Amino acid sequence: MIPKLSEVSPVQAKYLAFIERLKTSGFQGDTNPDYANRVVLSTDNSIYQVLPQGVIYPSSVADIQLLTRLSNETEFHGIVLSPRGGGTGTNGQSLTDGLVVDLSKHMNKILEVNVEEGWARVQTGVVKDQLNKAVEADGLFFAPELSTSNRATIGGMINTDASGQGSVMYGKTRDHVLELKTVLLDGELISSAAMDEDALNSIKQGSDYAAHAHRVIDTIAQTKQTAINDTFPELNRCMTGYDLAHIRDDHGHFNLNNILCGSEGTLGFIVEAKVNLLKIPTFATLVNIRYNSFEASLRHAKELLNAQPTSIETVDSKVLGLAKGDIIWNSVAEFFPEQPGEDAQGVNLVEYTGDSEAEVAERVKVLTDRLDALSADPNASTLGYTVANGHNNVNKIWGMRKKSVGLLGNAKGEKRPIAFVEDTAVPPENLADYIMEFRAVLDSYGVTYGMFGHVDAGVLHVRPALDLKDESQEPMIRDITDKVVALTQKYNGLLWGEHGKGVRSEYAPAFFGDLYPSIQQIKGAFDPRNQLNPGKIATPFELGADLLKIDEVPMRGQLDRQIPLTNRDQFKEGMYCNGNGACFNFDPNDAMCPSWKGTRQRIHSPKGRASLMREWLRGMSEQGVDVRKESYKTRHTSFLASFVPRLRNTLAKRKGEYDFSNEVHESMMGCLACKSCVGQCPIKVDVPEFRAKFLELYYSRYLRPAKDYFVGSLEYMMPTMAIFPQPYNWMVGNRFTKGLISKIVGFEDSPKLSKHNLKREMSRRGIRLATPLAIEALSPKDRKRAVIVVQDAFTSYFETELVLDVMELLSRLGFQAYLAPYLPNGKPLHVHGFLRPFEKAAKKNLDMLQNLAFYGLPMIGIDPSMTLTYRSEYAKTFGTSRPIPKVQLMQEWLANQSTHLEKQAISVKDDTFHMMAHCTEKTNAAPSIKDWQSVYELLGLKLAVENVGCCGMAGTYGHESSNKATSETIYNLSWKEKVNDPALHNKLVATGYSCRCQTKRMDDISIKHPAQILLEHIKADLA
Ligand SMILES: Cc1cc2nc3c(=O)[nH]c(=O)nc-3n(C[C@H](O)[C@H](O)[C@H](O)COP(=O)(O)OP(=O)(O)OC[C@H]3O[C@@H](n4cnc5c(N)ncnc54)[C@H](O)[C@@H]3O)c2cc1C
Ligand code: SF4
Ligand code: SF4
Repeated sequence: MIPKLSEVSPVQAKYLAFIERLKTSGFQGDTNPDYANRVVLSTDNSIYQVLPQGVIYPSSVADIQLLTRLSNETEFHGIVLSPRGGGTGTNGQSLTDGLVVDLSKHMNKILEVNVEEGWARVQTGVVKDQLNKAVEADGLFFAPELSTSNRATIGGMINTDASGQGSVMYGKTRDHVLELKTVLLDGELISSAAMDEDALNSIKQGSDYAAHAHRVIDTIAQTKQTAINDTFPELNRCMTGYDLAHIRDDHGHFNLNNILCGSEGTLGFIVEAKVNLLKIPTFATLVNIRYNSFEASLRHAKELLNAQPTSIETVDSKVLGLAKGDIIWNSVAEFFPEQPGEDAQGVNLVEYTGDSEAEVAERVKVLTDRLDALSADPNASTLGYTVANGHNNVNKIWGMRKKSVGLLGNAKGEKRPIAFVEDTAVPPENLADYIMEFRAVLDSYGVTYGMFGHVDAGVLHVRPALDLKDESQEPMIRDITDKVVALTQKYNGLLWGEHGKGVRSEYAPAFFGDLYPSIQQIKGAFDPRNQLNPGKIATPFELGADLLKIDEVPMRGQLDRQIPLTNRDQFKEGMYCNGNGACFNFDPNDAMCPSWKGTRQRIHSPKGRASLMREWLRGMSEQGVDVRKESYKTRHTSFLASFVPRLRNTLAKRKGEYDFSNEVHESMMGCLACKSCVGQCPIKVDVPEFRAKFLELYYSRYLRPAKDYFVGSLEYMMPTMAIFPQPYNWMVGNRFTKGLISKIVGFEDSPKLSKHNLKREMSRRGIRLATPLAIEALSPKDRKRAVIVVQDAFTSYFETELVLDVMELLSRLGFQAYLAPYLPNGKPLHVHGFLRPFEKAAKKNLDMLQNLAFYGLPMIGIDPSMTLTYRSEYAKTFGTSRPIPKVQLMQEWLANQSTHLEKQAISVKDDTFHMMAHCTEKTNAAPSIKDWQSVYELLGLKLAVENVGCCGMAGTYGHESSNKATSETIYNLSWKEKVNDPALHNKLVATGYSCRCQTKRMDDISIKHPAQILLEHIKADLA
């Protein structure tokens, strides 16, 4: 049995006292000094891991004022506060050993949109794409772009002065900030915008923090202009954060926002922003040019700039290669054709936008004419190009490019690309030479890397691959950074061209030069005791405190290396999460990650779970636990032998005995096992896999709830219950017994067994069972059109009609359809961490499937989640020790049967249906969604794919009483509106058993499986 983990780093007394005072002073938000929240918020996307004392989620401006006023009281002068948004910083910007103040959970409302004047007022926890989605219908957008736009907040963007693709045209975040509201450390809420002299003089008369800050900044502007002109490079990505060069704007107005933008939470809490919105250009075209070398693509950028594009991005072959291995490639492959013998080493993505189609086409033609001319030159470095027209296509390619940074982290092996010199900027004309020298530095250390960048702005993205678990590689962080700093200075550039300074603030004195004391004065005016995100950008002049140093802040690798290889390997599915935050995608219509969306708690996210898993493994390793051996022991200890100690531990837990495993368990229990993380996380973090392993070990120490046994045994009980379903159906339908089941078993609204009995119906309808004998008896002709449908418990017993419909559909399409004998698939066992019983079930099932596979007939499954278990959980469990027979999703197979399908084309051609696909299917077998469309098309029907997130059911998750509320919240986020849309009435189809079950349960609306609609139409066509 695993030991208890009671020794975790305690919260310092002064922080506990501070949190206590907050609570008693009327604080309305959440205060979380628990270890799980602290661990999860101890990382961003950087190489660092800093354990905070607690996490505060303020709910309003008043909460933040309370927080700052308290910290201004003498007894709390030692309290450190670090604002946090999406936590996607790449350099430890939001990490702290004090209190994290996360504005993204509650302060995320869009307050006002003025379409006529083109601006929006938002709370700063709003995510960039959330804002853009809200104003899209008005033809507007918030222009500054960044790869993390689906999870980075406006507050984070302002505080790092974020920018990205298109910055030459659209500038940086601060170019779109009209007004800010900021809570200063004395609790005052100030508004800032460009102001005239009278307003400035009036503010300067005061005696508060704001007045002092304005006086200090204005004096610097008046006295240091020559030094400012000499120090700040003329770059698109100018020296941001405490931007002395822009204290006064182009009209000569004093603008505090240019100091605040990019200040990384070191000057105050920015709580509200009025931002500029631009008109979405009507037309967009992207020319994708392939080159025989990366250098050639960089050098060509200069000439491309003459063709007046909106933006140019360069991607190297490594990044492209990683994209090819990801789900995202499906949507862009056509734009990157692989010609025989071609070896593209670099790609330039050249974008044109405008409001006149003719004008955009004309500009594109100038470029494509030039490229066509080049193609005749045998010495040309260009290999070819494609053109993507329209926002839809262009956005797909930008989507791929945006994901590239994350994908870089998905290299194989222990050396993984990491962020520390990833966003340098130099004048664009120096970029190619600079990059060649940069590469020479990296090559001299023998490190591999992928590169891409905004060549038009001179920004290079590169993440060298290091393994910081290996102590000997740690010094490279300093060595390489020092060399890159020297290089950027040689080329008149900046170390922080895009992602901000964070821990790299150590180099602020080198870049601000003689002006560093001036920015220290600014810091001192806002934060005299260094309480706000200390150690970043500048320390107060009077205090003389140190800036953080790149090799003195605790690194994640230092903690991970405390976990022995065997333990790391056993939980490898969570070890490599690099915190890029793609799992915090705000979009309710995206599958990733329903438990995070339903709770907005970061402990209930893939990143949260992976972080907790690593810390748990570290704790177990400290206690000398070999998790692999422990798992073996658990599997070989009898239920009875372990019962008494587990009962004792469970009782102790109920009495409040602390064990970190319980916090980890709580986080794991929130997971729906929908597997969206597996398909969509760029690193392929697989929560259901490591969750199952954790649960197996956790329940070696604690008793399992009754519902686990109920769910785990369902697949075994169903065949017997189905013989005489009435008692079960009565029990789950009767109000009193339903209540009892919910109370005792913890299971709600269980579906009723089907009124049809599959066995009886099979013999009535002449459906044949797939047995070796039956298959052997097939003639060679029949064998060619034979197919085996592999059963699963849920459709066979709860939706028997569907199985019968599928069999009828196949036979009407001219196939000889056989039903494989029923055996439990084991998926519910795996989900709940019954790994030994799962293995047993899987082995038995595999024996049966292998016997059938011997005859070479295609095998297909109806339910996506159960069918995909074969290629996922089965494949992982048996590795290379057993071949796993190919069981296809029914549409994967049908889409390849065009000759049969075309023969059956239905004469009614104007019917369009709308498909809501199952999460696991669309994230783990993405091309299969198009397969359904092809099948419909082949039969003369149309199928549109609806963008929806998770339905909230996911197997039995939604039925578990403890999950009922979250399951409903998740359903309401995305499914409810579509399911109740009158325009979609009777036009919706859903591929997942769980999803159909959920719509029936939540809205009493039955949705059909896509195959049933096909059958209906074929029948109607024949009638
Ligand atoms: C894969 C990947 C790709 C990236 N690509 C880009 C890119 O293309 N362009 C780019 O600019 N950046 C990029 N970044 C960096 C990062 O996404 C940006 O810096 C982003 O603006 C951070 O936003 P956030 O909400 O996550 O902020 P956080 O990381 O939470 O915080 C960033 C800083 O802002 C401060 N802060 C946050 N909210 C507030 C507030 N309300 N008041 C005061 N201070 C606050 C924090 O203290 C911290 O110092 C990338 C990061 C990753 C992981
Ligand atoms: S789980 Fe995946 S998507 Fe989420 S932070 Fe980790 S690596 Fe990124
Ligand atoms: S399986 Fe689904 S619910 Fe669980 S962590 Fe992954 S995405 Fe989230």
